[in-house]
Amino acid sequence: MPSATAAFASLNRMHHYDPPEWASDHFKSFPTPFPRLLLAHLPTPIYEPTARSSATQHQPLSILQKFIDFDVTLLIKRDDLTGGVELGGNKIRKLEFLLAEALEQGCDSVVTIGGEQSNHCRATACAARALGLEPHLILRTNTDSLGWTGNLLLDRMVGAKIYTCTTREYGKIGSDALVQQICCHLQDMEGKKVYGIPLGGSNAVGTWGYLEAVNELKMQLDDTDAQIRLDHVVFACGSGGTAAGLSIGLALCPSLQPQVHAVAVCDDPDYFYGRVTKIAEEMGFRNKNPGQSRADFVKESLIVHQGKGKGYALSTSQELQFCADFATETGIILDPVYSGKALYHFVTNVFGADPEAYRGCTILFWHTGGALGMYDKGCDLNLDANSIRHISF
Ligand SMILES: *Cc1c(COP(=O)(O)O)cnc(C)c1O
Repeated sequence: MPSATAAFASLNRMHHYDPPEWASDHFKSFPTPFPRLLLAHLPTPIYEPTARSSATQHQPLSILQKFIDFDVTLLIKRDDLTGGVELGGNKIRKLEFLLAEALEQGCDSVVTIGGEQSNHCRATACAARALGLEPHLILRTNTDSLGWTGNLLLDRMVGAKIYTCTTREYGKIGSDALVQQICCHLQDMEGKKVYGIPLGGSNAVGTWGYLEAVNELKMQLDDTDAQIRLDHVVFACGSGGTAAGLSIGLALCPSLQPQVHAVAVCDDPDYFYGRVTKIAEEMGFRNKNPGQSRADFVKESLIVHQGKGKGYALSTSQELQFCADFATETGIILDPVYSGKALYHFVTNVFGADPEAYRGCTILFWHTGGALGMYDKGCDLNLDANSIRHISF
């Protein structure tokens, strides 16, 4: 492992990726050469929030107490810490592989797509600039003028070229075709050499980032003296790449094999079982048991929960209250669109429906980042105005 400063100084130095030995038999072919950039700060730490006893708490614990009552250990894998405000979150793990391919192909520009406050678009734009690539973003919005907050502010600061599309256009044309259209335009009209990245970076190439993340987790657990057995791994699912990498990796990695819970924050579970199966197919995945179809393997390795609530990027007051309570109890900031929604849904409706089933278990929540998405929800958080004291000095 190069030191942090060395990695920073040579951001665009190409590395060769060798898949972990426990995975290599299961994939027909690796893209050769299999280039990877080191863009993220890895390994990300694993935190165990320490709940002090209720007696020393300033206020009762509304979330952690539920786990304490059932003797559950909650661990948090901090992929919100992969790369500071620019690169932080889960997308940079995929971009290490995607942008490596872009450089390998000699591209000068990248095109990708997402919602107005897309974490993926922001990470892509910032990473592209760091590598000397020109970022082009297609942002889905129904407002006439884009704002200046959160992810969008960063997109603008790094000078990303932004194209807007409406939800209707997006639904009618589809994200892949929209990326294709802008790629063609930039190629034909401006002579650029472009690299297109699908929604969320969730294709076969990007998903290697989360397969490798499983290897990282395995090595972290192997390195600790404490005997940690993970029973459940929980995370948010939006475009399926994280779910694909984690579910396949956690099922294959011999020392892990927890139950894997992806909480869908858009679409529905069947869509994601299909998406993950498709990504597995594109990766050339073949499973151990030749009698079992890929689709059945995916269903066996992954539970997708419906957690979208009011819909993608729409929050209920309970979800936002959960994020505020969690922040107060742990000092950790979740985001309203993905991580907060996912953990809220899991704690309230999955764990909450049958807490006895989780007694004594270890649950690892994979925090996928996204804090910048909280910036346009501030007013809805209903934070206690009484915490501000006006005193004279
Ligand atoms: C994109 C994103 C996810 C979902 O990951 P997918 O691989 O797209 O399913 C989860 N959390 C955050 C913060 C994200 O930005």
